[in-house]
Parts: sequence; C-alpha cells; structure tokens
Amino acid sequence: MAGYNCQIRTVTRSYRLRAYPNGAQRRLLDRWFGAARWLWNTALAIRSEAYRECGLTLTGNDVSRWLTQWKRTPGHEWLAQVPATCLTKCLRDQDAAFRNFFARRARYPRFKGKSTSGSLRFQGVGAAWARGLVTLPKLGALKLAESLPEVERPGLMTLSRDATGRYHVSFCSQVETSLLPITHRLVGVDLGLKDLAAFSTGEKIPNPKRYRARLRYLRQQQRCLARRQKGSRRREKQRLRVARAHAHVRQERQAALHALTTRLVRDFDLICIEDLNVKGLGRGIHARAIHDVAFSEVRRQLAYKGEWYGKILVEVDRWYPSSKTCSACRHTLDELRLDERQWKCPKCGTLHDRDVNAARNLLAEGLRQLAGRDDRDLRVDAGDACPEEILVQVLAEEARSGQRNRACVEQAIFG
Ligand SMILES: [Zn+2]
Repeated sequence: MAGYNCQIRTVTRSYRLRAYPNGAQRRLLDRWFGAARWLWNTALAIRSEAYRECGLTLTGNDVSRWLTQWKRTPGHEWLAQVPATCLTKCLRDQDAAFRNFFARRARYPRFKGKSTSGSLRFQGVGAAWARGLVTLPKLGALKLAESLPEVERPGLMTLSRDATGRYHVSFCSQVETSLLPITHRLVGVDLGLKDLAAFSTGEKIPNPKRYRARLRYLRQQQRCLARRQKGSRRREKQRLRVARAHAHVRQERQAALHALTTRLVRDFDLICIEDLNVKGLGRGIHARAIHDVAFSEVRRQLAYKGEWYGKILVEVDRWYPSSKTCSACRHTLDELRLDERQWKCPKCGTLHDRDVNAARNLLAEGLRQLAGRDDRDLRVDAGDACPEEILVQVLAEEARSGQRNRACVEQAIFG
C-alpha cells in the first residue's frame, strides 16, 4: 500500500469545546457581553446616523477613537473593565458586517437585543495551553469539558453563550490531513425527512433514535411558549425549556450528520447530492425547516471533508425531477405523491424504493454534469460511459492538475 495514501495537506480546522466558567467568571462575562452589545448598538447607531444625515461612511477605526474617550467618561468606566481587544474585535466584526452588506452578501447589520446569548472574541490566549484549561485575558483560567487538541495555540478565541446558558470556546487551527485511499466507489445520496439519507447502493441511514419523538416534544413546547404572556416568569422558564429541547435536537442531529459525512468520504470517491432540496413541501413547516438546516449542513461538511481527504463532491441541479424518474429506463412519471414510498415503473416494470431511486438518479445526473463540465478535460459522453470510466477520468484529471498523487490514480486505473 506504499505510495497509496502519501499526500499530506494542511487545512484549517475549527474546534468548539464546552466551557465551564465559575461563578465569578460568569458574573464578569455577563457584564462583558452587555458591554459588547452596548458598543455594537452604539456604534451601529452612530454609523447609521452619520450616513443618513451627512452621507459619511465611518469605519470601526473612527469609532475606536471615540471608544477611548468613552472609557474616560464618567458613568462609562465599566467599558474599561472589558479586555480592550474584545471591544476592538467587536468593532472589526461590525466592519465586516457592513462590508458584507455593501457587497450584497448580507442584510443591513442589526441591533442586538437583550438576550441570554452573546459572544466575545479574545486575542492573546494564555501560553499555558493546558489540559482542559485555557487562560483568557482578564478572565483567568477557564475550565473546559475536554482537553485542548494538540495543535498550535490560536491567536484568536471566541467565547460564547447560547440560549440555554451554556458556554463554548471556539477557535481555528492548522492541522495536517492525509488523503484517504481510493475505493473505486461512487454514490448518489438522497437526503430525506423519513430517513436521514438513502444511498444509490440501496442502503438507508435512519434518523437518530427517538428523533421524531424529540421533534414532536420540541413542537409542543414551542406552542406552549407562544401562549405564555410576554415578560412573565413562566414565559422565561418555558423559553429555557424550548432552548434546551432545541439544543438537544441540534446536537443529536449534528452527531448523526458528522457520522454520515465521514462515512461517505471514507467509503466513496465521488458523492452526488442535490444542490438544494425542494422536496418535503407541504410536510409541515417545522420538519421542513429542520430538514433544510440539515441539508445545508451535510453539504458544508461534505465540501470540507472532501477537500481534506481528496474526495469529489458533485451538486446536482435543484430542478432535476429525481424522485419521479425511473432510474432503470428514464421514464418520468407525471406525478408522484409524497406518501408513496414505493412505486412500479409503468414502462419497464421495475419496483422502486422512492428514496433509493432518487439517489440513483442523482448519481447518474451528477456523472452527466461532471462529464459535461468544461473545466475538466473529459472526452466521454456520460450517456455511454460506465460510471467507473468517468471516475477514472476525473481522477486522472485531478492528478494532472496536481491535486492528487499520480500513484493514487494509477492505483485507481490498474488497481
Ligand atoms: Zn422504468
């Protein structure tokens, strides 16, 4: 197997660890989150008004100069207690928010309401990169749920609190990954509501156990929250309950999605998924919203894991009728009801599982798209070539562009 898996690449990996601040730290953070929110809102108000009234575009640096003044103003001394770099970073973040807005990538920056959640970005993480402890400026040693990974100490660390009042630290670091071995296998993946995913190989990945029951519970609790009177103590209690249920569902789903995507990049060389899922319409807003989030998360994970481990991801056009087309003879039905889990092709008589058939179509369509792409020098007609031939050509192309080791490709062709 020598020379099979020998290409190493450096990638940026992000980490998120649960943190447990002590009582004093929690009280400090409470104030700091408040100060950061105040600064964000004040700066946003000033910048918006300067632009409205005088057509002036202020930058974070301008506001930053005033910040020094504000810290000396009586009544605002609390600003000076927050680590200075956190406040500067807060203004930088606002700059980025404005940049995204002007580039039409995002909406106009919004005012931050008073809520449980918040985040601060720290510069100058303590040199003692210790087991289960991280030292942050003015906060001291912060207890973590797990040991820190053995990576270089990051220059920047985010400490955040979510709606349930839990704290996390997150940061990015450079790590080395090596390409995974070539498996000669291709797959189309249909992400669904009933099962988490169906593969073109016929395999189905179920949702986490009791997942539907948890969703139902979450829905009940949300309805209950809507009935509670605004500002009441019972509402606050209910809000926390909903936030916890939400966090639970999200966590569980995240774990399942990571297991799914890791398995896909390990077992297959080429993965075809839908560009954007338009299924599940009329299925109830709730399940659909959850499903959409899951879908974009799968795509995100497959994109970076594919990049890390040298696997290829193809996104198939969103309007392709993948469920209604027979994967055996290409006959397309006029209509297929959402509750029809199985159907028989009227033309060739093949009995299809709805989701597996969709996955097979995604694979076929993905290969067709791949073969038709002009940035790859492929001279095959996807209609005639068998999937393996296309794969070998794609891999050869990757090798030519220097992305993959030649030995890997030879292995793919002759192995
Ligand atoms: Zn058919």
